Amino acid sequence: MSGSAAPAQVFVVEDDDAISRLVTTALQEFGFATEAFRSGAAALRRLPTQRPDLCIVDLGLPDMDGIDLVRQIAAASSSGVLILTGRGHTVDRVMGLELGADDYMVKPFEPRELVARVRSILRRRGSGGAAAAGRTRRHASFGGWTLDCAANILRAADGTEHLLGTAETQVLRSFVERPHQILTREQLMGQRDLSPLDRSIDVRISRLRRKIESDPQNPKIIKTVYGAGYMFSAAVIWS
Ligand code: CA
Repeated sequence: MSGSAAPAQVFVVEDDDAISRLVTTALQEFGFATEAFRSGAAALRRLPTQRPDLCIVDLGLPDMDGIDLVRQIAAASSSGVLILTGRGHTVDRVMGLELGADDYMVKPFEPRELVARVRSILRRRGSGGAAAAGRTRRHASFGGWTLDCAANILRAADGTEHLLGTAETQVLRSFVERPHQILTREQLMGQRDLSPLDRSIDVRISRLRRKIESDPQNPKIIKTVYGAGYMFSAAVIWS
């Protein structure tokens, strides 16, 4: 992904934590936004609200056959599907592709190879997907502010510009991509199993609040949802 687009959103449905981390880390390194799920049911619950560009589906899931999940994703969304299989059986590959998967990879795989496959699926799927739309969706406007995702610049209504750090931009982009949803600290950091003692996300959020909130002590845009995470409460318009 180039830095000029809103990031493509990729679901990673994989119950093996090590593989899941390998996949999400590789994708994030190349600018994709990821969300990881350990079960098919959890991914299906998020599918209608998140509308990912692509789902990476492990065929051996604890709660359902991955093939069933591929079928349900194809029926319920316009997301692309990349199958991960440790089985390597021809029948799985053929079935998966027939059921609407775009490609498959057999474990073990090279993370870079996976990223290349993901890119090529998104390219092939072309228009219609949020990834393609993302090429023109560079500016997110909310509450009098405009975030220029290409330049990491936050512009006030009067034209004043703040250059944001990469970490701050990443957090703000997570918010504007998913307004009005509770996002956990892990989701905002793009990490799983964040230590409860890791306060770096809270530091980034208080920095952002000092910039965008008229009263940072009483935030109206980035709200704290106690015990759950944060929610971006402003309407977002992309241009
Ligand atoms: Ca598995």
